Amino acid sequence: MLSETRAPLDAYEPVAAALNNAHYLGRQGRFESNVRSYPRKLPLAIAKAQGVWVTDVEGRRYLDCLAGAGTLALGHNPPAVVDALAGFLASGAPMHTLDLTTSAKDAFSEALLELLPNQGRDYCLQFCGPSGADAVEAALKLAKTATGRTNVVAFSGGYHGMTHGALAVTGNTGVKNALGPLMAGVQFMPYPHQYRCPFGLGGEAGAEAMARYFSDFIDDVESGVCRPAAVILEAVQGEGGANPAPDAWLRTIREVTQRHGIVLILDEVQAGFCRTGRMFAYEHAGIEPDIIVMSKAVGGGLPLAVLGLRRELDAWQPGAHSGTFRGNQMAMVSGLATLRTLRRDRLDEQAAQRGASLARDLKALAKDYPAIGQVRGRGLMLGLEIVDERQRADALGAHPMDAALAALIQKHCFEQGLLLERGGRNGSVIRLLPPLIIEPAQCAEVIARFERAVHGALGEARG
Ligand code: PMP
Repeated sequence: MLSETRAPLDAYEPVAAALNNAHYLGRQGRFESNVRSYPRKLPLAIAKAQGVWVTDVEGRRYLDCLAGAGTLALGHNPPAVVDALAGFLASGAPMHTLDLTTSAKDAFSEALLELLPNQGRDYCLQFCGPSGADAVEAALKLAKTATGRTNVVAFSGGYHGMTHGALAVTGNTGVKNALGPLMAGVQFMPYPHQYRCPFGLGGEAGAEAMARYFSDFIDDVESGVCRPAAVILEAVQGEGGANPAPDAWLRTIREVTQRHGIVLILDEVQAGFCRTGRMFAYEHAGIEPDIIVMSKAVGGGLPLAVLGLRRELDAWQPGAHSGTFRGNQMAMVSGLATLRTLRRDRLDEQAAQRGASLARDLKALAKDYPAIGQVRGRGLMLGLEIVDERQRADALGAHPMDAALAALIQKHCFEQGLLLERGGRNGSVIRLLPPLIIEPAQCAEVIARFERAVHGALGEARG
C-alpha cells in the first residue's frame, strides 16, 4: 500500500516532523546508489532557491557559487524564465515532441543560431539527448562520418562527459582506470597551463612550445598517428581547474586543423553563454569552430543539449544520431528566455567586470594566504589552486598541490554558507561559478565568507 508512505500533499515543503538536513541525507543514502557525489561535499537538502541564494530545509541560506555546475546563468528561478514557463504551461502547447517542430522550437532555434559566427549563416543546429555528454558523442560521430577518418585528438585536463566516448576524450584517469578500453583512436596532447606548464617552461614560451608541438605532430607524416577526424577541446577548461587556453595557442590549433581538414570541436558546455565574458569562450581568440557543443545554460536550467555545426559538415543520414528526449519544449522556452536576457542585459560584459573584480579581490587574499598558489580563470569562471607552500616550489615557483587542504576549504565554505565546487588535479582547485547576475555586494560577501573559510581551514589543517 502506497498511501501510508505517500509524500506530503505539497511535496515541495519539508515534512513537518523532519525539518533537518540529516533526515533527508540519511534517506537519500538509502534511496540512491553510492555514485551520488555532491551531497558528500555539500550536505544539505534544498528547500528553496532564488537568484544567487539557496535555502536548506533548516532555513540556512547559502550563496550559490556552484549554480548547477555553471548551468544557472541567471541564477535560481529567474522571473524571466519562471514567467515564460508559466505562460507555456498554460498555453496547451506540447511538452515533448521528439524532434518534431513547434513554434517554441522555431523561435529558440532562430535565436540560438544567431549567436554563432556570422549570425549562424554557415551553421545549422542538431538537437541531441539532453546531456552535454550526448552532444559530445554526436560531435565525435559526426566528425568521423564527415571526414571518413577515426582518430581524435584531445587534451590533458579536458572534461567532456561520462559516457564511453566522451570519457575517452576526457583527461581524468581516476574515472577511466576501472573501465578498460574506451573509444579507440584517441591521442592526448598537452594543454597549456600557466602555473604548471607541462613543458616546464611557463609563460608565453610554454604556450608557444605547445603550439609548435601540436603543429609538428599533425604535420609530421611519421608522428605515428594517422590524420585525425577531429580535435576536441575547451577554450577554458572547467572541471580541469578553471584553466584558460592562451588565445595564440587556440589560433594555432585552428590554423593547423583548418589546413589539414580536421574538424575542430569546441566544447562550450560550461564556458558558453557569457560565463567567460563573451557569448562563447572561443570568441576571445577570434576563431570559428567547426562544431560547437552547447548544454548547461542553453536550456535556462532545464535539460537541453545542442550542436552548432558547419553546414558543409552535415553528413548525417536521417536518424544517424537520434534519441527520445531531443524535443524538451520547456527547456527551449526557458532557454529562449535566458538567451534574450543574456543579450538584453549585456551579461557578457557584466560577467567580465564582476569576474575581474572578484579575481582582483581573490588575488589580494592570495597575498595574505600563500596556500592560494594561483588565482586564474576568465570572467565568472574562476579557480584558486591550493598548494602546500611549506614545501619546496618547482623551478617555475609553483608549490606542490594540496588537495586535502582544498577539500577542507570547501567544507569550511559550506559552513560559512558558501556553496562551491573543486576541480583540477585531485580536486586541488577551488572553483567559483556564480550566477552571472551576481551583484557587487554579493561578490563582497563571497570574498568575506571565503576568507573566513580559508582562515578556518588553515587553522584546522596546520594549527
Ligand atoms: N563538457 C564540459 C566542458 C562539461 O563541463 C560537462 C559537464 N560538467 C560536460 C561536457 C558533460 O555534460 P553533462 O554532465 O551534461 O553530460
